[in-house]
Amino acid sequence: MKTPEEKRAQQAARARAWYAAHREQELEVRAKRRRDNPEKVKADNNAYYWRHREENIAKAKQYHADHREDILAKNRANYIAHREEILAEQRQDYPRRRTKILASNKSWRMRVKLEALAHYGGKCVCCGEARWEFLSLDHIAGDGAEHRRQITGKERAGGSTAFYSWLKKNAWPPGVRVLCFNCNCAIGHEGQCPHGNARLEPDAPRLSDSDAGASTTLQGSFPDTCPEGRATAGAAPFP
Ligand SMILES: [Zn+2]
Ligand SMILES: [Zn+2]
Repeated sequence: MKTPEEKRAQQAARARAWYAAHREQELEVRAKRRRDNPEKVKADNNAYYWRHREENIAKAKQYHADHREDILAKNRANYIAHREEILAEQRQDYPRRRTKILASNKSWRMRVKLEALAHYGGKCVCCGEARWEFLSLDHIAGDGAEHRRQITGKERAGGSTAFYSWLKKNAWPPGVRVLCFNCNCAIGHEGQCPHGNARLEPDAPRLSDSDAGASTTLQGSFPDTCPEGRATAGAAPFP
């Protein structure tokens, strides 16, 4: 008497043997079915996907967790071995992926910004404006430009996402407040807002005095050299 497991194993072995012996024929049957009923095949595949989605995702996650080091090492080795081809492919594919890439970069930047705004109160401390599109984070002591140079190494505009990430990495330090662009601008030009509720406060904590550079170096399992071989991690982040 066979156990259910043995029966199943026997059936699976038989199915495999049958498939091995009739492979060509079976593939032709499937190809014909796809040709004759493309919509039906698509619908079936779709249904199959959704029926097994949760378990497949869980399986894939588990597999990745169990083989993480192997997978990362293989990916790295593959990238190094095929770098030129991979980059060429990406360049060629870029026009098609551009919209998607830009959208996901944008939504990532937005998420980072929203998270930071939420941590500092989520509305303008001067006028109460709460629509995030109008909001910015302000260095209360007025050392924003200096701080941005430290974080990004850039002289002029940009780097606000790097700033939001920096705040998060540094556990949301004091010295920052939420202002709408109007109130922020007024304080930038005049030292205070005509609403009368906020002004530049030079004695507030200066973020540019903290060790800004140290927290922006890469950490974790990144390789510490660039495959180009001209840069190594650990050099002084910014002058
Ligand atoms: Zn305001
Ligand atoms: Zn104001």
